[in-house]
Amino acid sequence: MPVERLLPDQDARDLIELTREIADKELARRVDEHERAETYPEGLFGTLGAAGLLGLPYPEEFGGGGRPYEVYLQVIEELAARWAAVAVATSVHTLACFPVASFGTQRQRERWLPDMLAGRIVGGYSLSEPQAGSDAAALACKAERTESGYRITGNKAWITHGGIADFYALFARTGEGGRGISCFLAPGAADGLAFGRPEEKMGLHAVPTTSAHWNGALLEADRLIGEEGQGLQIAFSALDSGRLGIAACATGLAQAALDEAVAYAKERQAFGKKIIDHQGLGFLLADMAAGVDSARAMYLDAARRRDAGLPYSRQASVAKLVATDTAMKVTTDAVQVFGGYGYTREFRVERYMREAKIMQIFEGTNQIQRLVISRHLAR
Ligand SMILES: Cc1cc2nc3c(=O)[nH]c(=O)nc-3n(C[C@H](O)[C@H](O)[C@H](O)COP(=O)(O)OP(=O)(O)OC[C@H]3O[C@@H](n4cnc5c(N)ncnc54)[C@H](O)[C@@H]3O)c2cc1C
Repeated sequence: MPVERLLPDQDARDLIELTREIADKELARRVDEHERAETYPEGLFGTLGAAGLLGLPYPEEFGGGGRPYEVYLQVIEELAARWAAVAVATSVHTLACFPVASFGTQRQRERWLPDMLAGRIVGGYSLSEPQAGSDAAALACKAERTESGYRITGNKAWITHGGIADFYALFARTGEGGRGISCFLAPGAADGLAFGRPEEKMGLHAVPTTSAHWNGALLEADRLIGEEGQGLQIAFSALDSGRLGIAACATGLAQAALDEAVAYAKERQAFGKKIIDHQGLGFLLADMAAGVDSARAMYLDAARRRDAGLPYSRQASVAKLVATDTAMKVTTDAVQVFGGYGYTREFRVERYMREAKIMQIFEGTNQIQRLVISRHLAR
C-alpha cells in the first residue's frame, strides 16, 4: 500500500505519482541486480534529470522545479523506499547545487545552474578528508592563489558519486583556521585531479564512494563560490538542508522494511496462526510503524519551517537523528520478523539493515547531531 501523503496541492500529488511511476519502472526493476553486482546504473540519473527530479527545490528561473522542501523531501522518500543508494545520490546532487544556488553571483547561477538543475550534469559534495570528518574545520586541502585563479593540492575522502560526478562542491583552505576555508565549484575532470578506487562498503553498492587527489590542479578565479573564507558557513548551511534529505532517505528505507515485514507477517504461520496475530510480534510491528510515522513527522516539521523562512537548523538535526536511528531500529526489527530467512540474501531486509547503518554516520554523525541540538539548547 503506498503511503497516504498530506500534500499541499494537485501539482504535488501529480509529482508524487510521477515519482512512483519512475520508481516502479526504473528503480524497483534494477535495484537488486546493481546492488548485488556493485555496478553503477548507467543512464538512470539522466532519466531522473529528464523527469525534473534533480533540481526540485531550486528556482524555476534557473531550470529548477520551484517546489517547497516539504514536497521535494517526499519525492526523496519515495525514491529511497525503492533504492536507497539512488535516493542518497539524488540528495547529494541537490546538496552539491546548494552553494551556487544560494551563494553564487547572478553570473555564476546563469552559467551553471541550468545544466545542474536539469540533471544534464550530476554533482558531488567534497568536504570530508582522511583526517577531517566530523571536525570539518580541520581540513587541510589547499587552494593557493595564482594569477588567474587557484591551485588545488591535497586529499579529499568519501565522495558519494566520486569519479562519476561532473562537478563537485569542493571545500579547500585559502587561509588559517575555520575562517580560512573557501568553497569552489570544481569540474569533475581536470589535469591534476585523480580519484581513488571505490571504497568497499557495507551497503549502497551501486553508487561509488571514492577519495580524490588534487595534485596542483588549476581552477579559474570565478569558480570561487561566495567570498574567500566563507566556505565553512556555506558547507554548514548546505548541510542543514542536506540532513533533511538524509532524514527522508532513512524514512523511505524504514517504510520499505516495515512494508515487507508486515506482508511477511501476514503470510508466515507459527503455532497455528499468522505470526502477525501473535501479540509479541504484532506489537513489534506496531512500534516499527510508530517509528516510521514519527520520522516522517520530524522531517516534515523541519521542512515546513524551512519553507516558511523560519530557522530550522535544530529541527533538521532532530529529524536526521530521529529518522536515521529509527531506520536502524526498524530495519533490524524487520530482519527479526523474517526469522532465519531475514538473515539471508534471498530477502531485501538484510540489505536494508546494512544501508540504514551509514545514515547514522554521514552528513554529520548522530553524535554530531546531538552536539548541534545541545548547542541550540545552551544558547
Ligand atoms: C558511504 C559514505 C558516503 C559519504 N559521502 C560523503 C560525501 O559525499 N561528501 C563528504 O564530504 N563526506 C562524505 N562522507 C563522509 C562522512 O560524512 C564522514 O564519514 C562523517 O562525517 C564522519 O567523519 P569520520 O568518518 O572522519 O569520523 P570521525 O569524525 O573520525 O568520528 C569517529 C567517531 O567519533 C565521533 N565523534 C567525533 N567527534 C565527536 C564529538 N565532538 N563528540 C562526540 N563524538 C564525536 C563520531 O560521531 C564517530 O562516532 C561519506 C562517508 C561514507 C561512509
